[in-house]
Amino acid sequence: MNQLRSVKGTHDILPDESNKWQNLESIVNAVCAQYGYHEIRTPIFEETGLFSRSVGEETDIVSKEMYTWEDKDGKSLTLRPELTASVTRSFIQHSLGNQSPIQRLYYMGPLFRRERPQKGRQRQFHQFGVEAFGSEHPEQDAEIIAIAWQILSRCGLANDAKLNLNSIGSKECRIDYRSALKDYILPYLNDFSETSQQRFKTNPLRILDTKSEKEQMILKDAPMITDYHSTDDSAHIESLKGFLNAMDIPFEINHKLVRGLDYYTKTVFEFNSLTLGAQDALLGGGRYDGLVKTLGGKQTPGIGFAAGMERFLIAMDESENEFNRSTPDIYLVCLDEKGLSNSLKISDQLRKNGFKVVTDPLRRSMKSQLRDANKLGVKFALILGETEIKDKTIAFKDFGKGIQKTILQSEVINFFDDLTN
Ligand code: AMP
Repeated sequence: MNQLRSVKGTHDILPDESNKWQNLESIVNAVCAQYGYHEIRTPIFEETGLFSRSVGEETDIVSKEMYTWEDKDGKSLTLRPELTASVTRSFIQHSLGNQSPIQRLYYMGPLFRRERPQKGRQRQFHQFGVEAFGSEHPEQDAEIIAIAWQILSRCGLANDAKLNLNSIGSKECRIDYRSALKDYILPYLNDFSETSQQRFKTNPLRILDTKSEKEQMILKDAPMITDYHSTDDSAHIESLKGFLNAMDIPFEINHKLVRGLDYYTKTVFEFNSLTLGAQDALLGGGRYDGLVKTLGGKQTPGIGFAAGMERFLIAMDESENEFNRSTPDIYLVCLDEKGLSNSLKISDQLRKNGFKVVTDPLRRSMKSQLRDANKLGVKFALILGETEIKDKTIAFKDFGKGIQKTILQSEVINFFDDLTN
């Protein structure tokens, strides 16, 4: 029979990787707590209409990449391809806006997009992200970008990442810009790829995102969105730039950055890795002042970002960060069945005092238990043999220093406390 395997574009996170995930998750939890953000967890699947109405029918995500099916009752359901829409749906459904004028939320979890898998691009992947609902002011944009910057810094990635910033203005200014851009592109349209020609019809701003050098050359003199900004749009981005400078967060204005989704307004940004190669977007976000209303809520401004956790972990590996598998502190070797209950008791007392302790449930020989300890990279061993059981003692071994001595079982906790302080 054929061996069953995970589906293309999905991955198991194996025990020797999960520690890295937990480290990243705890950095995200810690930084978000410092800024007063609370975690929100929404379902993995939603009604399809949620994504088509918010992300946009013409976007790649909605038109090509969603896992959608008709449920038994005829309803169209979709595995979530992004989380801002779900979080906004939940914000509206539970009237979170009535609880406080600002809702600061963050999330972590799996997402599903049927893309062509490659390094840093999967069909099931994970994101963490933050969303702030309620403020239209640029200091809110600055706070969101500062959270991203803090998390990147704690992950050791700040020096390898570049912040690209742009303002795509309010909806009104984009209508004029859209037609100016189309007028500019039209005479060259035949030189553009099929994808870009399609985008010309459906979402011309996205052509600015093109990776093709030829198309980039043509677009060099294209009109710029900044020339279509309203006074309010310009004031907003100028204040934001000032706040970022005040916080020493380096950025570059990139007039070509538009981001793919329909719901963005004004500020858009991306942190790109300088080490990741083709899939270099670590994190992207922007303001979405119209989204709550589009989804049926009261007019409420919002801004947020989403970050790819797999890409963070790849970048962290490449920057030679110290996010290793967690190593136990102590290996307790028990050599006699009569010592087992004492061995379990001592191990648990040590764990209660903050030490990571491993015992051997296979009743192996001393030699193979010590070999196992070595393989795990443990620093200390405690050995409970026949003599020690009789004398109520335990043998202590420091692998690094090559020291061995005998201590009283009743003194084990104090001994390790002294040793590690
Ligand atoms: P987006 O929601 O498309 O703005 O993506 C936000 C972040 O999620 C990106 O910057 C990537 O880090 C990550 N990401 C998006 N799509 C994928 C994917 N298919 N596989 C892995 N990471 C992804």
